Amino acid sequence: MIWIFLGAPGAGKGTQADRLADHLGIAHVSTGDLLRKAVKNGTDLGRKAQAYMDRGDLVPDDLILGMVREALTGPAKDGCILDGYPRNTAQAASLDGMLADLGREITGIINLKVGEDTLVARIAGRAQAEDRADDTEETVRNRLKVYEEQTRPLVDYYRGRGGLQEIDGEGTIDEIQARIRGIVGAVAGGAA
Ligand code: AMP
Repeated sequence: MIWIFLGAPGAGKGTQADRLADHLGIAHVSTGDLLRKAVKNGTDLGRKAQAYMDRGDLVPDDLILGMVREALTGPAKDGCILDGYPRNTAQAASLDGMLADLGREITGIINLKVGEDTLVARIAGRAQAEDRADDTEETVRNRLKVYEEQTRPLVDYYRGRGGLQEIDGEGTIDEIQARIRGIVGAVAGGAA
């Protein structure tokens, strides 16, 4: 089972993916979390990625690919939620290639839809709670721009292929999680 979570920065992908992964007993693969860990541990990948992350730009695709392949063949070999990946159409194409190699398929794609005011409020709240270096006003503005230009086109990319589920990402964490579980349950039920 492989679910992809799409949504703007601040849409709540991480929180919701964490809960759903626990509920389903599968791995939560967040490329942002993996990169932040690499930066913290001072690995080669972390050193190469840091400047891009500090600016709110995407880290080059070739650095991301190895990280995702490692996850899919390791902790996520029995299923996962991909959060923050793919982030552009080139990454979506490499994911397709990787999954074909591994004989696996995307189960579904969830797009969390949230209005701009909510995004800004959530990011500001997270900046205080998590002390993320890339939650400064300037970086956030760039991350939203990068999302619009590079990541949002994935919504149409996946809509065109079928399997895209649009979810209202406004409301409490529990309300949104219930909507997501409704969709995931219906897809799993339909597949059974
Ligand atoms: P996130 O936690 O998903 O918002 O990611 C934080 C930062 O990590 C992003 O602003 C990018 O610099 C980088 N990043 C995370 N995932 C990817 C990805 N799939 N491709 C490129 N850069 C990424």
